Amino acid sequence: MLDILGEEEGEMKRKTPYWPSLHGPKVGQLDQELSAELPTAENCLRYISAYPENLRERIRGMIRDERLGAYLLERYPVPHEHNSNKLLRAYTNQIKTSYLKSSERLSKVCFDDKLHLVHHALGTQTFVSLAHGGRLKARRELRVSSLFKRCPEPLLRMIVVHELAHLKEKEHNQAFYRLCIHMEERYHQLEFEARLYLIYCELYGSLY
Ligand SMILES: [Zn+2]
Repeated sequence: MLDILGEEEGEMKRKTPYWPSLHGPKVGQLDQELSAELPTAENCLRYISAYPENLRERIRGMIRDERLGAYLLERYPVPHEHNSNKLLRAYTNQIKTSYLKSSERLSKVCFDDKLHLVHHALGTQTFVSLAHGGRLKARRELRVSSLFKRCPEPLLRMIVVHELAHLKEKEHNQAFYRLCIHMEERYHQLEFEARLYLIYCELYGSLY
């Protein structure tokens, strides 16, 4: 197992979010990299560009030797079954009830086909104001990229935990990551593996 929390890599201390952020780039950020046409192994490594070089080198080697898929399948032989909006909503609310009971209600939880392609984001939680009968009505929405519709369950959990943590903490600061780890103690490891999964999907398509 590529354990990013293992002694070999040292403790991961995160002060800034890894690039690319789960929510996509700021406008105008790294246009050049995002406009690359074909998914090449080197281009796909942008998902893990903020991780230590020795770790990236190992992943580069796994891609070169075509071992990434086998590695992921061995760790995660089957995809999760929360693959409709209704099931995702139940799944999300279950985690929310367990850990963030006092946080505000989610009006909508759904998979979104456009998040990744249009916004270069994997998940979002947004506060939407809607005019409703002459009054403004606030809705909190949590969206997960459709890339996670057929993925290992722990990786879905990671993205849901990340977005739920934003109900309490807007920024990717230490309090935010503490909250993520409170909900899922393997959070950092799972985020890393989610990035490996995305590299795989970008290079080869569906894992399952
Ligand atoms: Zn975030």
